[in-house]
Amino acid sequence: MDDHNDKDDVQDDVQDAIAEFAKDEAERDRRKQEKKPKKDRRPIYYAIIAVCIVIIAIQIPKIVSLSKQEPKPNRLGATQTDELTDACINNLWAILQTLQLKETDISEYSCPLNKKPYILTKNKDGYTVECPNATLHGFSHVRITTSKPIPELIP
Ligand SMILES: [Zn+2]
Repeated sequence: MDDHNDKDDVQDDVQDAIAEFAKDEAERDRRKQEKKPKKDRRPIYYAIIAVCIVIIAIQIPKIVSLSKQEPKPNRLGATQTDELTDACINNLWAILQTLQLKETDISEYSCPLNKKPYILTKNKDGYTVECPNATLHGFSHVRITTSKPIPELIP
């Protein structure tokens, strides 16, 4: 490339400059594009996940205590009952299932307060089972009816 004249040299210079500029520009573009995905967002995601875990962890005792203190409402009437009354109500549930199976022998069940048998009465819609110790439980009636299958605690 010895036969360059001045004009060619100038042109070469210009072209070099343009090429250089283009290279720089391309380089800048490349860096810019590299920069975007390179901006590592994972720490942010981890932070968000960590916050979520902390929030859930804080809520867990609350959720657990809620499920302990207030299991689904399994009876009508007063909600504050002692353990034996709860056991009696569980018996009413079990008797109800027995009756739904067309089985009327409920002699295996008795009120946990004093082992007295439950009172079974037939009515036109089905059966009513009543605890013989309703007043000892603190109610006038503790019963369940096949036509209305939820224990009733009548104050
Ligand atoms: Zn009872």
